[in-house]
Amino acid sequence: MKFPFYDAPNTATITCCHILENGEPILYVSHDEDDGMWQFLCGKAHETDEAKLVSLKSVFDLDNSVGILKDMPCGYYAERKAQDDEWSVRKR
Ligand SMILES: [Zn+2]
Repeated sequence: MKFPFYDAPNTATITCCHILENGEPILYVSHDEDDGMWQFLCGKAHETDEAKLVSLKSVFDLDNSVGILKDMPCGYYAERKAQDDEWSVRKR
């Protein structure tokens, strides 16, 4: 599948150790208003040291279903209940 995001594949994004190390699904995606940073998280609450910096491409390679969110503007976030669920996008 072609890389869908407008940001460069090597754009730094935030994910969490639960997704990276425990293989948990991505259930929460945020496109931050202030700096345009993408965050791909498991949906649980996080301590600062559980956040990991990775490239946007490595997140997309992990789960292609985040690609559908490429048009989500800054200041919005998306949630889903399970990996095969539809995303629901909301303004922050
Ligand atoms: Zn997590």
